Amino acid sequence: MTRALVIGGGVAGPVAAMALQKAGIDAVVHEAHPTPSGDVGAWLGLQTNGLDALRAIDAEQAVLDVGFPTPVIEFRSGTGKVLGSTATTGPAPGGTVGLSMKRSELYRALHGEALRRGVDVRYRSRLVDARGTPAGVTATFADGTTETADLLIGADGVRSTVRSLVDPGCPPPRYVPVLNTAGYSEHTPAGAEVGRLTMVFGRRSFFGYLPAPTGQTWWFANPPLTREPAPDEVAGIPDAQWRSLLRDLHAGDRCPAGDLVEATAGPLRGWTTYDVPTVRRWHRGRTVLIGDAAHATSPAAGQGSSLAVEDAVVLARCLRDLPVEDAVDLFERTRRARAERVVAQGFRTSSAKSPPAVGRVVRDLVLPVVLRRRDPQAWMRRHHVVWDAPALTA
Ligand SMILES: Cc1cc2nc3c(=O)[nH]c(=O)nc-3n(C[C@H](O)[C@H](O)[C@H](O)COP(=O)(O)OP(=O)(O)OC[C@H]3O[C@@H](n4cnc5c(N)ncnc54)[C@H](O)[C@@H]3O)c2cc1C
Repeated sequence: MTRALVIGGGVAGPVAAMALQKAGIDAVVHEAHPTPSGDVGAWLGLQTNGLDALRAIDAEQAVLDVGFPTPVIEFRSGTGKVLGSTATTGPAPGGTVGLSMKRSELYRALHGEALRRGVDVRYRSRLVDARGTPAGVTATFADGTTETADLLIGADGVRSTVRSLVDPGCPPPRYVPVLNTAGYSEHTPAGAEVGRLTMVFGRRSFFGYLPAPTGQTWWFANPPLTREPAPDEVAGIPDAQWRSLLRDLHAGDRCPAGDLVEATAGPLRGWTTYDVPTVRRWHRGRTVLIGDAAHATSPAAGQGSSLAVEDAVVLARCLRDLPVEDAVDLFERTRRARAERVVAQGFRTSSAKSPPAVGRVVRDLVLPVVLRRRDPQAWMRRHHVVWDAPALTA
């Protein structure tokens, strides 16, 4: 039986292990942290394309249990004008829509499902090196142990160690020019509806809020910052400074940011995000990259987790039907264009969140026309992953 080492137990790792199991391939997940991580970052959207991919391996229910439907995204200007909205429906018949969930809950749900299916997950197991052998790959871990398998899958995120082994000259991840903070507020804005995500293009900062079925309102903010902050600079911003910053940035906007932030238990924390636009090669020999390791995207695309899930399932299908070298090659050829297009769109969206005054006027005129004509994100969400049909190299 083919055996795989999966490095990283975030989103792509446990899904890859479950998909490989379904494909008849044995997989061990090595996760550097002592538990499923994901406490940094707040909440995220798992889109219909991610749900579609989980359905292919019968794992959709695990995330339905921790998320709630978010059928509509509405866009407003800082003056309160509604610029338009999009429905988050996807490819499947029956009205599947995107879900929102805490990032940590998503990690726990996927780990729980993988463990329930008997996947071997080793925590506190940090890969430090890997070498190809005539028959496979030998991985070395920080505790000095080694393990050999037929292939190694790098699902180790935006700061991937495996990426540096596959593409040693790869440039470092690119800073996305907005800061991130988020929280769960006890305030409910007037007129807000459960499952309706409102995105506000404030004059000086971008703000989103989403009433949850629990009665809380989930929110996030993206104050622009073009200069890349020093490591730990943003994590070191204290709670009181975040609160006064957000109050000041949204003071002139018709947006409930102030009330939402005030009714949020602290401490507020912030983080930076990075994307990875192009990795020159996604595989070398019997080592292959998936998820953020291959193509991290700005959260503005709302697609990081969904793309990671798609990758995991597509790779398992290729490995089910083809020899390892052919499988990883077909995987990269199948996935690269789509993933890089999502990354590019995410970076553009992040960069356009707080334009200068002229840009705001143009956006407020153009966006309603665009949203009436077509949904600019439909191509991302309506993607369908094929599982049953054989993967063919030609
Ligand atoms: C700090 C942070 C906050 C985020 N917040 C949001 C958000 O709010 N909204 C949103 O839409 N998206 C967010 N994202 C993006 C989203 O979480 C990712 O796109 C998605 O998780 C990608 O899945 P992945 O499995 O490829 O990588 P990850 O989920 O990052 O998983 C990688 C895993 O690999 C492990 N690992 C790393 N190196 C090693 C090693 N050498 N050996 C063993 N294990 C290793 C890590 O501990 C981690 O568990 C955030 C990402 C980060 C990093």
